[in-house]
Amino acid sequence: MDSSEKMEKIVSLAKRRGFVYPGSEIYGGLAGIWDYGPLGSDMLYNIKDLWWKKFVKGRDEIYGIASSVMMPQQVWSASGHLENFTDPLEGGKFNTMFKTKVGALKGETDDVYLRPELAQGMFVNFKNIIDSFHPKLPFGIAQIGRCFRNEISPRDFLFRVREFDLMEFEYFVRENDWEKYFEFWRKEMWGWIDEVGISKENVHELEVPKEDLAHYSKRTIDFEYDFPFGRKELYGLAYRTDHDLKNHKLDYHDEESKETFIPHVIEPTFGAGRTVLAILCDAYQEDEMGGEKRVFLKFKPQVAPVKAAVFPLLKNKLELVKKAREVYEMIRKQIQPVMFDDNGNIGKRYRRQDEIGTPFCVTIDFDTLEKDSVTIRDRDTGKQERVDTKDILVYIQERLR
Ligand code: ATP
Repeated sequence: MDSSEKMEKIVSLAKRRGFVYPGSEIYGGLAGIWDYGPLGSDMLYNIKDLWWKKFVKGRDEIYGIASSVMMPQQVWSASGHLENFTDPLEGGKFNTMFKTKVGALKGETDDVYLRPELAQGMFVNFKNIIDSFHPKLPFGIAQIGRCFRNEISPRDFLFRVREFDLMEFEYFVRENDWEKYFEFWRKEMWGWIDEVGISKENVHELEVPKEDLAHYSKRTIDFEYDFPFGRKELYGLAYRTDHDLKNHKLDYHDEESKETFIPHVIEPTFGAGRTVLAILCDAYQEDEMGGEKRVFLKFKPQVAPVKAAVFPLLKNKLELVKKAREVYEMIRKQIQPVMFDDNGNIGKRYRRQDEIGTPFCVTIDFDTLEKDSVTIRDRDTGKQERVDTKDILVYIQERLR
């Protein structure tokens, strides 16, 4: 399978099975705009949830916020985006921020911009966090949220779009400590890549050359991923110096040493959509099972949109269906989401779940009625294990952890 064929297959599967749809498709679509369907949004939610647990809830020095998408012109003027957030275009320079107006009355409207990055939301709330929580350095401010960029040529499915979610934090340190924390977060980013199920062999660090650095950065490492359409940026780790706090005229007062100074900033950034895409590219597999070709998504169970599926072996045996319904209800009280399927033969049902990456299929057969045990099939190997009904939850939960 060559790489463009692989990409086509992923895009087509994503649409057919409800992961990602082209935006406003019934009206012909809109370039660079995609909608997540039920499975895609569950997957996106799982990714954000894992990220929030790792980088915010799991740490006591990082404060989570959810700041606004619309921000006034002054913010973007101070940050340097009005001047620098541009893409060269024939016949002029072109700023890729979306501009709109708030207010209804003529003369009382204000220009605002939809944020092209999350960072300014953290900087404009820097003083609020200090006043409310009195954090000691180092500390961070994090958020997950939507960003907008009027990309000149959106392309490659979820890779370059005009509206996307970022997961990001600003980590405030003393200037002398920046290298230490840069290295610390660099390692943590690799940890995340592994945790979410992106294979490390497909990720490569790129030290961004001085002449290509963003206007605010003194050092940046891009984490590039081998997408089917080439090696491209997945995440970034930037040393933003004191550029932003200085321009917003913000500083920090250390109560112990009585010094007032401007902290420096380390910024790990994670594109949520690019994470979904990298996981899909890694997970997409084709093999042969039982003499038939099959497609499966080898998701880590934590990321998989559907955790388990439950089937009665035969649709027309009432006792099997009744027992399968009971087992299904029992599982989904503890683990969500779980699917129930009694359509077509059992082989077809397995294939349907393989194609959406469901790690476990639980089948209720005649032995279940006699011995109160079920089969649990592993998505990757197709192997089935007999498990007592009372142990199903523990079996699945252990593997979801
Ligand atoms: P690129 O060089 O690919 O345009 P960038 O250098 O502009 O990316 P940053 O400004 O560092 O990217 O943005 C941080 C993160 O936001 C990127 O690492 C990526 O994950 C994500 N990202 C940026 N632009 C887009 C986009 N158009 N569509 C989807 N994700 C994006």
